[in-house]
Amino acid sequence: ETLDQGLSKTKESVFSKLTRAVAGKSKVDDEVLDNLEEVLITSDVGVETTLRIIERIEKRVAQDKYVNTSELNGILKQEIAGLLAENNSDTPIDFDAELPTTPYVIMVVGVNGVGKTTTIGKLAHQFTKAGKKVYLGAADTFRAAAVDQLVIWGERAGVPVIKQKMGADPASVAYDTIASAKANNADVVIIDTAGRLHNKINLMNELTKIKNVMQKVVPSAPNEVLLVLDGSTGQNAFEQAKQFTKATDVTALAITKLDGTAKGGVVIGISDQFKIPVKYIGLGEGMEHLQVFDKDRFVETLFE
Ligand code: GDP
Repeated sequence: ETLDQGLSKTKESVFSKLTRAVAGKSKVDDEVLDNLEEVLITSDVGVETTLRIIERIEKRVAQDKYVNTSELNGILKQEIAGLLAENNSDTPIDFDAELPTTPYVIMVVGVNGVGKTTTIGKLAHQFTKAGKKVYLGAADTFRAAAVDQLVIWGERAGVPVIKQKMGADPASVAYDTIASAKANNADVVIIDTAGRLHNKINLMNELTKIKNVMQKVVPSAPNEVLLVLDGSTGQNAFEQAKQFTKATDVTALAITKLDGTAKGGVVIGISDQFKIPVKYIGLGEGMEHLQVFDKDRFVETLFE
């Protein structure tokens, strides 16, 4: 799917709300700003980020005195792009680019059902397509289904999956994976982890243990801690980001299931609120349905 198709529900929803927000108004006044605030909040941008955006627009309106409502789309585009630029680089990452170090270790975290396994499979495929040798580690040893799913994705992408029996120590699986990957000169290692959130201390301990064990083989590991969030859950995604950022140092976000949801505004709010770059977005269930996040294209697409 193209970004345009993938974001169509969010786009339509934002567009119709914005149209209503300025209906019968030629000038951006307090009432329009109030309406705009509501548009952003109901589009899952999040309260904090919405207030930041409104504040920026208020300043502009105060400066320019008379701002036409017809300019509002363009202004929103600029202000949101500016906000996203604070945490997202100008050049989106590229699967073809040379990795800063090999094996480049990505530890993937997130609660069950958000699309963690799917995202790992898609990443494996994209890196493989770009000529990189990938190893996957099934360190979510808590659910048999998680291991099975990862094995299926490994087969699809044509990459090895290192696993142990159910209930095995996740850190031990991570160690085996990284050791095999290193011995076989792999470029990328992606480690799946269990997404149990009900016990924060356990989660923290488990992730810390996995990290420590990885570092015995690759001192710089994990090079990336990728938190996968389900964009279609809106405010739940914010809550999960809060919990995981408390449990470990999350360095990047993957936001899935943006196709089929009108809640795509989460991408703007989560990146801003947690000061973490969005690296990938999921736009479907298939292997190709993962895109590297390009903030400018994202904003262009939403507000064109
Ligand atoms: P996990 O439990 O976090 O590993 O979740 P899975 O990877 O098994 O995904 C849960 C469900 O979400 C599956 O049915 C996936 O096909 C689906 N899914 C994952 N990512 C996306 C996406 O970007 N878009 C859509 N529409 N579905 C997705």
